[in-house]
This record gives sequence, C-alpha cells and structure tokens, in this order.
Amino acid sequence: MNSVSQKHIALISVHGDPAVEIGKEEAGGQNVYVRQVGEALAELGWQVDMFTRKASASQQKIVQHSANCRTIRITAGPEEFVPRDNLFKHIPEFVEQMLEFQQESGIEYEIVHTNYWLSAAVGMELKKVQGCKQVHTYHSLGAVKYKSVSTIPMIAKTRLAVEKEVLETAQRIVATSPQEQEHMRSLVSTKGNIDIIPCGTDIDRFGKVQQHQARQQLGINPDTKVILYVGRFDFRKGIETLVRAVAQSKLRGNADLKLIIGGGSRPGQSDGKERERIEGIVNELGMQDFTVFPGRLGDDDLPTYYAAADVCVVPSHYEPFGLVAIEAMASYTPVVASDVGGLQYTVVSEKTGLLAPPKDNDAFATAIDRILSDSEWRDQLGCAARKRVEDMFSWDGVAAQLSKLYTQLLEEPVIVSKDEAVATA
Ligand code: UDP
Repeated sequence: MNSVSQKHIALISVHGDPAVEIGKEEAGGQNVYVRQVGEALAELGWQVDMFTRKASASQQKIVQHSANCRTIRITAGPEEFVPRDNLFKHIPEFVEQMLEFQQESGIEYEIVHTNYWLSAAVGMELKKVQGCKQVHTYHSLGAVKYKSVSTIPMIAKTRLAVEKEVLETAQRIVATSPQEQEHMRSLVSTKGNIDIIPCGTDIDRFGKVQQHQARQQLGINPDTKVILYVGRFDFRKGIETLVRAVAQSKLRGNADLKLIIGGGSRPGQSDGKERERIEGIVNELGMQDFTVFPGRLGDDDLPTYYAAADVCVVPSHYEPFGLVAIEAMASYTPVVASDVGGLQYTVVSEKTGLLAPPKDNDAFATAIDRILSDSEWRDQLGCAARKRVEDMFSWDGVAAQLSKLYTQLLEEPVIVSKDEAVATA
C-alpha cells in the first residue's frame, strides 16, 4: 500500500455530513456513502479528509474517524441547518475556507471527490485554482428529479447547469448504476468520462442475526408477517404507496400482519410533516393496531430490524441507488421495490425480490402478498439477495474500485481543454 500511503484526498460533501446521525432530514444515503468510502479508503492507505458544512455552532470542527480519516467542518453561511436548495450562495465561502485550511495545514489535495451538485461546484472551482483532479458522484440528478415534482425550485436552472458542466469537465464521473449512467447520457450530456462503481454496504454488520433471534429481541411473534420500511420521511420515498398496499393485503385476508415504518423525523420540519401525513393515512385506513413507527433506527438497531422482517419495501418514486435495498438484502431479507433507477440494478425481480411500478398500490400489494404467502420461496429469495450483495456491493469492494480509479487518475497527465487554455491565455 506504499504507493498511496502519502496521498491526500478530499471527499467533499457540502450538505451531507459524514459524521452526523443518519436517518433524519437530509441525512441519508449520501452521508453513509461518504463516511463508508472515506473510512475504507483510509484502510487502503489514503489520507482522507472529508469536508462538509458546519451546520450548528455546537458541532466539533474536526471529527477523527480513524488514524487516516477525518471530517472537517467548514464555516460557510450561518452555523445552522440550511435546506440544500438554499446553500448555493454559500459555495464561494466554502471554497475560500477550504483553500485557507489547505494553506494553514500545508496539505494540497491532488484528487477531490465531490458528492451532489453543490460539492461539484466547489470541486470545479478548486480545480481551476489548484489544478487538482475531480471525481464526482451525483447521488441525485436534477434532470430526473424535476421530472417527478410539481413545483420546480428557483435553483433548478443553476443546478442543471452545474450538473452538465461537471459531467463534461470532471476527470471522472462515478455512476452508481448502469441506469444512472443512462440518465446522464440521455438527459445531461453525451460528453465526459463515466465509470460505474456501485454503492456498497457492510456485509459483516448485516446478516449475522437469525430471524427468530431478531424477533425475540423486538418482541415480535414468530408467526407474524413483518413488512418493513426504512428511510427518510420524504414524499418521494413513496411511503403512502406501501401503506395503501398493506391495507389491501390485509383486506385480502392476511390476518397476522405487522407494518414497521422506521426513520427519524423532527416535528414541524418537512420530515415531521410527512410522518404526520403518513400517520393520518394509517389512521384513516384503520391500520393503527398493526403499524408501528419506531423512529430513527441507529446503527445497532438496523441489522435486527432487517433480520426480523419477512420483506423490506422500497417504494420510492425514484432512487439513484437506494442503500436500504442492499442493506435488507445483506440481511437475507427479500426486497419489493419500485421498478426505477438503481433499484433495477440491485434488486433482480423474481430472484432476490420483486419490482413493481412506482406509485402502483395494487402491484405492490400483489408483490408483497406473493412473498408473504410462500415462506420457502421467501427464504430462497433472501439467500440469493445476500449472495448478490456479497458478490457486488460490499464497501471494501467499492473502495478498492475507487482506489484503483484514483491511482489511475494520478498517473494521467493533466490535459487542458481548448476552452480552458483559451481562458487562461
Ligand atoms: N437510515 C438509518 N436510520 C434510519 C433511516 C435510514 O440509518 O432510521 C439509513 C439507512 O440505513 C441507509 C440510509 O439511511 O443507509 C438511506 O440511504 P438510501 O440510499 O436508501 O436513501 P437516501 O436517504 O439516500 O434517499
């Protein structure tokens, strides 16, 4: 590992702090991705600094994750929570502070790996000033997202422009699934270099607990059919589809059901409001007796919940990757997911779970019933799911692929594009 041991890399995640609690508003897959990738790269010998925006005065400026991996919080804008759509105006300050940090510490990053379009803007600026190389992961594409929302935010134009520019100018774009790559090509630009490297999960953490042990811990009867949702409370996660599908399943005679809807929320904030809306539907459909909301599931709870479930449902309207699907699969739990985005890559319909059209309550009900009514097939799906994750989606495997990519990039000469050459002339 000597070849990479001296190399400093920066992972930039302006709004997705890798050191915070996951499962609350705006803290989900991206935070997990950055932290896991950072920690695994550090194990491979890289010196990893993960930069994020300081979102509260009480947060520590530097959080050390391991000897070679730390989170560095940059003050850019007020030290309080700011929704991501309002963060772009603070990007110049973020860049300035990052440059200052490098000057003070004497570190210069040869590679910056940016996450989400806000960080892409930081990376493109650093590239201009310092000549570093940029790798970018989108996590979400504006061009896809804006097709599915009724109100387009003011920031949309800027975001779409940044997303196009980074695709065309970054040394490498990391698509996390072939589906995401296809969207980049068809909706953003035909220019630019894309590699497919998926997201991953910790295969040692999940899949250790047996279903009966997990149920004992959670006080769930062995014969109850357990349906699980894990994730943020966000309208686009499609939790309403799941609730309505389970109501149908119950009507069709599935007597002993339990629906667990896990995820954190804050009263009065957008996730709190979505949870209230979902609870309203649960009550309206008379499902209170068999539906529970355990709140945010911490790192220690998650493996138990996934193991206890007969099926995990991911009903998102769109999902660029969807970590929850592979976490459930790693826990031997089959997944019923929307037939969209990265879920089409992770879930193999009829082999590791079932895919259903998004927002289609009937199709979700039928898929859930098929799995719940055949426990032998359910177990076969669960074993195939685990195998698929072991083969394709472990963090260590993902980090090894990223490490190889960075090493290749460091060896490549910097090619100045014609436009850049003209601009600097
Ligand atoms: N998560 C968690 N606790 C919760 C809810 C979610 O730790 O109560 C984690 C979940 O395990 C997963 C991540 O948040 O690792 C969600 O990632 P995903 O890609 O599924 O969705 P995103 O939040 O990125 O839309």
